Amino acid sequence: MLNIVLFGPPGAGKGTQSEKLIQKYGLVHLSTGAIFRQNIKDGTSLGKLAKEYIDRGDLVPDELTIALLQAEVAKHPTSKGFIFDGFPRTTEQAEALDEFLNGKNMPITMMVALEVDEDELKVRLLERAKTSGRSDDADIDIIQSRIETYKQKTAPVANFYERQDKFHSINGEGSVETISERLVAAIHAFN
Ligand code: AMP
Repeated sequence: MLNIVLFGPPGAGKGTQSEKLIQKYGLVHLSTGAIFRQNIKDGTSLGKLAKEYIDRGDLVPDELTIALLQAEVAKHPTSKGFIFDGFPRTTEQAEALDEFLNGKNMPITMMVALEVDEDELKVRLLERAKTSGRSDDADIDIIQSRIETYKQKTAPVANFYERQDKFHSINGEGSVETISERLVAAIHAFN
């Protein structure tokens, strides 16, 4: 089983690279952000709650996000593995994910981080806003607060995997193909 946490700030390319990896390795792509957006679109009570946080560039509370993630994993009992995209975003989420997956005997294989310069992130997100329809991509103040949230709450999650010797980071700038090749090389080095 291959369980990869794809890590990095907003706009690092996690979604794009996840698509490449699921094709190559036949994995299930789990993006908590995408699941929240689907709930918002469907008008569910979870979507209404999550929207308040997402619109501010804040994180949705851990308890809610962890329960959502666990329910999604449970929907794919025969999966060859998962790409976790945008989860875990706090150390509490990382601890809960470890406990949950270890209990199922399907531990995280590795975390790979995409390193991208902050100015480049802002350019990418504003560009993406033109087609994504995401209001959190279209406003520079919300982008800034997502980046700050990442620095304060999410970046420390890398230490959690470093302590387990499961952390690897790659240069996330360049063409989609080049970055994908770097990712595949990092995964092979770990397996
Ligand atoms: P993303 O699509 O990964 O950029 O996520 C969009 C937004 O959804 C984030 O800015 C958060 O508000 C929320 N979100 C996504 N994943 C998580 C998570 N693991 N924990 C808390 N909030 C999340």
